[in-house]
Amino acid sequence: MTRFSIHNQTALKELLAENKIPAFRYGQIENAIYKNFIKDFDEIQTIPKDLRELLKENCFYQSLEVEHQATSKNDQTTKFLFRTEDNLLIEAVLMRHLSGRNTLCISCQAGCPMACTFCATWKLGLQKNLPLHEIVEQVMYAADLVNSEWSRLRNIVFMGMWEPMLNYDVMKQAIHMFTDQKKFDLSNRRVTVSTCWIVPWINKFTDDFPQTSLAISLHAPNDEIRKSIMPVDHTYNLETLMTSLDRYTDKTNKRIFYEYIMINGVNDHLKLADELWQLLQWRLAHVNFIPYNAWEGTASDWYTTTPRFIIEKFQKILEKYWVISTIRATMWDDINAACWQLARKKKDEQNEIPEKSQD
Ligand code: SF4
Repeated sequence: MTRFSIHNQTALKELLAENKIPAFRYGQIENAIYKNFIKDFDEIQTIPKDLRELLKENCFYQSLEVEHQATSKNDQTTKFLFRTEDNLLIEAVLMRHLSGRNTLCISCQAGCPMACTFCATWKLGLQKNLPLHEIVEQVMYAADLVNSEWSRLRNIVFMGMWEPMLNYDVMKQAIHMFTDQKKFDLSNRRVTVSTCWIVPWINKFTDDFPQTSLAISLHAPNDEIRKSIMPVDHTYNLETLMTSLDRYTDKTNKRIFYEYIMINGVNDHLKLADELWQLLQWRLAHVNFIPYNAWEGTASDWYTTTPRFIIEKFQKILEKYWVISTIRATMWDDINAACWQLARKKKDEQNEIPEKSQD
């Protein structure tokens, strides 16, 4: 008999119905799993023994294996490398901010087909879209860890290894679970979807999740540079993107986070700061400058990080025109926590990097 994930709500409810178990039992199981973090079905004392046996026969709690877990020297960041049942590696990163806010970045795909030149994921192409339970398990695992530290997971960002809009239906189900009061109970604004602008899906997202936060991988204020570092710009140019983002802000009145990775000599010329404020000045925008994390796994091994003083100059120019921005702290260099670095490193060690399959 094939067992299914305890996070498969539909299958679990069907199992209870088939066995003439009253519907309220589902709530008790849900409470045990998501509120009390019980992993062993035998320990769910609120349900009868017969039902515990039924769960053991038909369901599993966790399919992901923890391949590697590393915490940065300052204890702020923990990176998880998980192995799926079909032997793929996926990553999640937990960031403990000094304010007490805990944020988890999760993966929604294994690999990514988008081929951004600055990203260590590019050599893998897309390996698979993750099923719902593999996404939820990343969150359960990290939430359990944070809980054991007497704290709480506050934010989830769909931003690990992947382009989330390419696994839209599963991402949608996951967001519903994360914001369900009886499960993870996060407010919608504390869930953020980060995308490299697949425009039709952004429009759909706007209609489906007007309360959920949106982050855009912008990385350059004009098509010429964007095309050279993000192939998706060949399909959806800046004008098309901004039209769809204006629709999002018109409908939601929410500020969009614009991610801007700072790569020395590529997208950090100060004249680009002028183009950037002109693009964003009258929009609800927050720019997040990300110092490039140099690593040999990217498409262009000569990329280096923009010096901090240049990033600050960039920021000052934006400030002058009332465009809000922050510079992301690099609190994880010692654990290879940038996008897909740990998994690539692990695969390199195993000499099993497949050829890039699709870009
Ligand atoms: S930056 Fe994001 S969208 Fe681009 S290749 Fe890497 S994981 Fe994919």
